[in-house]
Formats: sequence, C-alpha cells, structure tokens
Amino acid sequence: LGMPSVPVKLAERRKTRRINVGSVPVGDGAPVSVQSMTTTVTADVGATLQQIAELTASGCQIVRVACPSQDDAEALAQIARKSQIPVIADIHFQPKYVFAAIDAGCAAVRVNPGNIRQFDDKVKEIARAASAAGVPIRIGVNAGSLDKRLLAKYGRATPEALVESALWECSLFEEHGFRDIKISVKHNDPVVMVNAYRLLASRCDYPLHLGVTEAGPAFQGTIKSAVAFGALLSEGIGDTIRVSLSAPPVEEVKVGAQILESLGLRERRLEIVSCPSCGRAQVDVYRLADEVTAGLDGMEVPLRVAVMGCVVNGPGEAREADLGVASGNGKGQIFVRGEVIKTVPESKIVETLIEEALKIAEQMEREGVAS
Ligand code: SF4
Repeated sequence: LGMPSVPVKLAERRKTRRINVGSVPVGDGAPVSVQSMTTTVTADVGATLQQIAELTASGCQIVRVACPSQDDAEALAQIARKSQIPVIADIHFQPKYVFAAIDAGCAAVRVNPGNIRQFDDKVKEIARAASAAGVPIRIGVNAGSLDKRLLAKYGRATPEALVESALWECSLFEEHGFRDIKISVKHNDPVVMVNAYRLLASRCDYPLHLGVTEAGPAFQGTIKSAVAFGALLSEGIGDTIRVSLSAPPVEEVKVGAQILESLGLRERRLEIVSCPSCGRAQVDVYRLADEVTAGLDGMEVPLRVAVMGCVVNGPGEAREADLGVASGNGKGQIFVRGEVIKTVPESKIVETLIEEALKIAEQMEREGVAS
C-alpha cells in the first residue's frame, strides 16, 4: 500500500487587487518582488544613484528612498529619472513632500495618512494627485510608531492593533475613492508579524508588502525574515518583500531573493547542494563548497551543483544534480547530468566543477534557458 501523494507546492496565492509600482506589478498573481531601501542621504544624488545601481545589479526590483527634508525632496526627480528600477519615496508627516514625490515621477509613495490627517484636506488632495498620476501608495504600519489611540486600546502592538491601524489608514483614502494601495503591518517579532498579516489578509484585498521590521543584524534578521516570510508565502500571503537588516542593503536583496528561490517563487539560479560533512568525510567539504560557490557566483543559468563528502549520499545527490562531486579517498568522482565523467584528485575538484559548470551554462544559454 503506497502513501497517498501529497502536492509539492505552496498554497495558491491570495487573490488581491493589482497595483503597478512603475514597471513592476504587485499583487493579483504577479511574481513576488524584492525591494530594499537606500541608506545614503537622498539629497546626495550621486551616492544614492550609485547605491541604487548596486541594488539593481544584485536583483533588487523596487527601491525606496527616505525623504525627510526639502533637499531630499528636490533630489527625487533626478533619482527617479536615472534609476533603472522604480523608486518609492518614503515620507512621514509632511504632505508637501508627497506632492513633490508625485511631481518628481516617483513610482509610488509610502505615507500614512493618519500622520497627516491634521492637515484637513491634504489627504483628499494626495488621493487626487496620486490618482491623477497613477501613483500607488503604501500604507506602512510599524509596531514602533503605532497610533497612540490604538496603543491605549490594545495595550501594545498586537496583531489586532496593527491591522486596525492599517485598515483605518486605508479608510482615510477610501473616503476619497482612492484604492491604489498596498499595505504593510510590520513588527520585530515574527510570530506577531505573521499573525498580523494573516489577519490583514482575511480583512482586505489589497496587495501586501511583507517585512519584519528592525529584524536585527544580518544573521538574526535573515532568520527572522526567512521564518516569517516562509510561513506567510507558503500560505499564499505576500506580494512584495523587504528584508530589513542592520547590514548593507545589497545583503537584504540577496536574502530576499534566496527566500523566494527557496520557496520556488522565483527561478533558482545557482543552488549548491552540499553536505554538512561528518566523521566519514574524506575531503574538506566546507572548503570545497565555499570555493565552488565563489567560483560560480553570478552564474545566470539555473544550475544545481552537489558537493558531497563521501560515498554514502554522495553519488545519489550528485546524480540528481546538474553537476556534482562525490568524494572518497582524497579523490572526487565528477558527475554531469547523472553520469560519472571522470575521477580527479581533491586538488582538482573545484577547477573541474567550475570548468564543467561553464560548459553546461554555455549549452543552456545556446538552448535559451537563461532569461
Ligand atoms: Fe557525512 Fe558523507 Fe553525508 Fe557528507 S555525504 S555528511 S561526509 S555521510
């Protein structure tokens, strides 16, 4: 009697409205996009564009820039024009910068209308200007800046408090017929965050921007984000993601891309299947795995490479991969697409794998696999 077969895929993506952040669609089944935020002073146009270029090269699809001053607002037009990816202006409290960002050609604005409600008609004017320009708005609720009224009501930033805040912010735009919105409800605790997004997903059809806020330094923040995004995305919740790390933003993009690749939500590029090594290993697996990863960094075709320390699981994994090595006795059996093509000494394993990987990549490119 066989086991019943279990589907090997994530839950269907949640049905949402679609917004367009410049050229990048978000929601309604569009691929989950990766975004980040610059750390330069936005008014320093050269440095900001340089960082955006680095982010773009690392696979970032949408970039956000902070706009806390008039100088920053004045820099937006040049940045939006020269950036290769859509630029979102991040604005707090100051409606005049929202208008400046829309005029500057920013692809979207992050602003919480609750922040600017005291300026009477400003929310209405923002809704009108954004609508006329086709500029969507992200409403971003963060645990650290939760409305005082909701903090008093719930005692702390609970999932219910975050969601009530976000939906109230949305209603301020909806009153004026504006629904070109995506929402985030961020918290630094992945469990609170996951529950907040689940609740939010059940209460609206806006696309959702996932983020664990203030997730911490790279190691901790990577794990918190992977755990939280993994839980939500596997339930079909989440349309665009931002990993927040106390580390250079390029690292955020790499982590975000890796999360999507791990879930099969983005085509895998280079994937190294390497064993953890153990008392049976007859080669230095860590060094081999690191050197092969470094040697194949930037490879544009999807390639699965197995680096295995001995003959227990080695041949099986190496055979399943596009390319692999199963080591033993200071030697490596090199597999290409399931067949052993040669056996080389340990000192030649890395260069042989890289050589063979390049041949496979060329062949795939000829066959049009690379996008
Ligand atoms: Fe140990 Fe071999 Fe498994 Fe690597 S492949 S962990 S060396 S048993």
